[in-house]
Amino acid sequence: MSSEAKCSKPACDKFVAINELAKRRGFFWPSFEIYGGSGGFVTYGPLGTRLKQNIEAKLRELFVKKIGIYEMESSVIAPGKVFEASGHVDHFKEPMVECQNCHGRFRADHLLEEKGISAAEAEKMSLEKTGQELERHGVVCPDCGGKFNPPTRYLTMFETTIGPYQGSVGYGRPEAAQNIFVEFNRLYTTARERLPFGCLQIGHALRNEISPRQGLIRLREFTIADLEFFFDPEEPTCDKLKEVEDEVLPILLCETRLKECQDTTELTVREALDRKVILSEWQAYFMAMAKRLLIELGVPASKQRFLEKLTWEKAHYSSQSFDQEVLVDRWGWVEVSGHAYRTDYDLACHMKASGVDMTVYKEYPNPIESEELTVKPNMAKLGPVYKGEAAKVAALLAKAPAQEVADAMQKQGSYIVDKYEIKADQVDIRTQKTLVRGKRFVPHVVEPSFGSDRLFYVALEYAYGIKDDRVVMSFPRSIAPIQVGVYPLMSKDGLDVKAKEVQSMLACEGFMTEFDETGSIGRRYARADEAGVQLGITIDYDTLKDSTVTIRDRDSWQQVRTPIKDLPKLLHQFFEGKLNFPQLGIIIET
Ligand code: AMP
Repeated sequence: MSSEAKCSKPACDKFVAINELAKRRGFFWPSFEIYGGSGGFVTYGPLGTRLKQNIEAKLRELFVKKIGIYEMESSVIAPGKVFEASGHVDHFKEPMVECQNCHGRFRADHLLEEKGISAAEAEKMSLEKTGQELERHGVVCPDCGGKFNPPTRYLTMFETTIGPYQGSVGYGRPEAAQNIFVEFNRLYTTARERLPFGCLQIGHALRNEISPRQGLIRLREFTIADLEFFFDPEEPTCDKLKEVEDEVLPILLCETRLKECQDTTELTVREALDRKVILSEWQAYFMAMAKRLLIELGVPASKQRFLEKLTWEKAHYSSQSFDQEVLVDRWGWVEVSGHAYRTDYDLACHMKASGVDMTVYKEYPNPIESEELTVKPNMAKLGPVYKGEAAKVAALLAKAPAQEVADAMQKQGSYIVDKYEIKADQVDIRTQKTLVRGKRFVPHVVEPSFGSDRLFYVALEYAYGIKDDRVVMSFPRSIAPIQVGVYPLMSKDGLDVKAKEVQSMLACEGFMTEFDETGSIGRRYARADEAGVQLGITIDYDTLKDSTVTIRDRDSWQQVRTPIKDLPKLLHQFFEGKLNFPQLGIIIET
């Protein structure tokens, strides 16, 4: 769960500015507006959809292509059994209070956070204590000032029935991870029965949040990217660690948090592992990659940190968890991804509940010779003593732990099983040698889990800037929703035809382009800056004479003149980061 704080800053911060711009330019807006809206649902418009795709493409580039992770796509609704087995039905609950007057419902822990109680403290409290604290701080309904009923725990999964059968309960998945776990056996076969391997699922997740009032940060339907990485706990080495071991991770450690201090400890990946701050090499690797992902989305390292979760804050499945957080204007530190060491928890739960074996077999390089103590009932001796009961006594003996029988015989010459005293001559105790060729075990899992919508929001916030009283969305080149805008200076004299030709040529080259001929060129540039269009290409009267165009850079507002024929090669190199803007042509002094 995220630890973002509530805030009561005036409505002129970046959150407001971005939401306003997002509506105006078509990045995103609240869904169902014509019916008055419904909290916690958003619609991504044309620009937003592209930006979100580009962000997810970045995630795929870093986490899928580079490491060779699989992807899968499964259903949003799952039978109740899945989330009963995973523990979500019991644990996926939040403390809630209801106003006695207007019946508004609120997250009790968030109300306490508004009174200065830390998220960690609020999360730790029992329901009773939460109720007492709300009363002690005089917390009343933020909407009408009414008194609250005692807090209850509210299941934040959407519940439904599958088909027209009342008893057939289904849940909307609150995470994409369980789909991966329940399909483990098939995925393992696809992975040619080898560990380690990972599988990513990017898809919608549903959480029936109690009172979502934080825009993209807290939605009821959002996109989650869950990567489950399966490995042998006896072979936990990450073969990619070298690539990241010098990466510095700013970590807010549990020990620091317990002192009510917010200072991060800067540790390289190597140091964090050596000092056992991070338990799993793969987890450390994914944390470093997550830091790099956010840098690629435009969030500087200095605005990122990893928060080590306290025991009571960790999800029920996690043995060690870190939240990757980004500092945002209104909400302070906001979780953008969670990194959990889920051990064998989920596979073991599904194995137990479904009865399906999800262990994997590992062959030892050299078979191990092992000695096994066996206890065999001696029927020739048991029969005359126990007569009709001899078979029952033999069955009881067969189930008894061999070592226990042997120890008892050695100490007191007999062994009591049930109500029968077995004498030494009634059993045959032997040591047998066997060759063990391998063993079965449940793989362990580390999980990085990203929320696409939060990545999207922080990318917007860090791209947002004001230049000469105008908004400029300075997205990193590789995620700009539109790479090139093409503008005829006038919509006449063949300039528009030439501009369409250039646009079509660039689109065929694979660039994301837009054509805009409405309004003055200045207004078109301003619109493009707000939309984050990286480059603007203007077709003017000189173009018709010498086949050159003006290219304008969104961030520096510099302009260069370049032959049309050179555009494809130069622009490819520019978007691959191999050229800077001034290298695209001859600089025009403006
Ligand atoms: P969690 O399983 O709670 O750690 O969530 C994994 C990731 O999903 C978080 O790091 C967030 O980026 C994202 N997330 C969780 N809840 C929401 C929500 N209600 N709305 C948007 N994103 C969310």
